[in-house]
Amino acid sequence: MSRPRDMLLRGAVLSPHAIDRVESYEDGFVRIDDDGRVASIGDWHDAPNDAGPIVHVGDALILPAFVDAHVHLPQIDVRARYGLPLMAWLEQHVFPAEAAFADPEHAERVAERFFHALAANGIGTAGVFATVHLEATHKAFEVAANSGLRIVMGKVLMDVNAPPDLIEPADRGIAASLELAERWEGAAGGRLHTAITPRFVPTSSAELLSHAGRAASQAGLRVQTHLAEQPEEVEIVSRLFPDSTDYLAVYDERGLVGERSVFAHAIHCTDDAFARLASSGSAIACCPTSNAFLGSGSFPLQHAKRADVTIGIGSDVGAGPLFSPLDVLRHFAYLDHIEPCELLYRGTLAGAEALSVDHQTGRLAVDKAADLVVLEPPADASGDPLQRFVQCVFRNPETRVVATLVEGRVVFGRLPT
Ligand SMILES: [Zn+2]
Repeated sequence: MSRPRDMLLRGAVLSPHAIDRVESYEDGFVRIDDDGRVASIGDWHDAPNDAGPIVHVGDALILPAFVDAHVHLPQIDVRARYGLPLMAWLEQHVFPAEAAFADPEHAERVAERFFHALAANGIGTAGVFATVHLEATHKAFEVAANSGLRIVMGKVLMDVNAPPDLIEPADRGIAASLELAERWEGAAGGRLHTAITPRFVPTSSAELLSHAGRAASQAGLRVQTHLAEQPEEVEIVSRLFPDSTDYLAVYDERGLVGERSVFAHAIHCTDDAFARLASSGSAIACCPTSNAFLGSGSFPLQHAKRADVTIGIGSDVGAGPLFSPLDVLRHFAYLDHIEPCELLYRGTLAGAEALSVDHQTGRLAVDKAADLVVLEPPADASGDPLQRFVQCVFRNPETRVVATLVEGRVVFGRLPT
């Protein structure tokens, strides 16, 4: 991986400020300093003339690298296994694939392909579930460090209701999670973060969830898990935890709901649960391609938005068949009428907010990391830069990721010379 270098990117530039506000330049520039940060951004007329080499991206768009807020590393090879509901799909396809990660060398080989796939799809940051295996997760972090990507990742915790080779006593799982945090939290110059990662309530004892909540708060770690994906799963949770008022309460009563928590799906939630998510500062990773694929239902976007919950998007590979954030955004758009500006925001800054990395990435602004994607729209795309971005979303197969940069380093593709 090469060092970042001082350079001046020239082209159409888009950077989200908020759900309804975008900074846009038809002929703009992004100056990257040799620490890999954005030194300045603006209209080409105002570009500094003492900067490094000029890289003109032609008709391509320059925007923040995408953020995939929810994706499973070991599931890259079980994508598009169609026809089963969640619980049966986990048992038949996912658990056998995850069991193979008992072999750290297998984990390393899969991790190489996985992080390459993220970068090739314009993703600069992702919230990743590994497997229950400690050594395999160390390997995955090593590969993540070498990939140049910005990654939030955790070892999956399961202690009940899963195959014997994928469960472990609660205290052992927590100790392994803390060992990973000790080694990897803030590593690779601050690009890597760890998360306490209970899979979901059905594979967790009350003891595991309590330990996980205590560990996250004592060590100040992020939390990622799943919430209310399918009615059958919600039913299982209410049987396992009859004293809790709902699914979210099971997590909340054990200290797992807070400012640094991300919940995938949250489809079958009441307005009250959305209000509690919002007031706790937790985020949702909305995974519309996965939800359609597994027949989980449609995310109630208007309800979650009324509660003002932070909502990023996730591919949820392997239930989501494709890594492409453009494909996920297209399905997100079909949930409701979405403004173009919101589509850009959901794919970038909102995901960074969900993963608590918005101080580093998610938009192109002075002193943020130069995490960006150079995206070539369909040949006949027209309109202003935001309109051309929307055409990338809806005509994804005709769109090309020219290059993905994280901290000013090319992690996929090539910049024009
Ligand atoms: Zn998932």
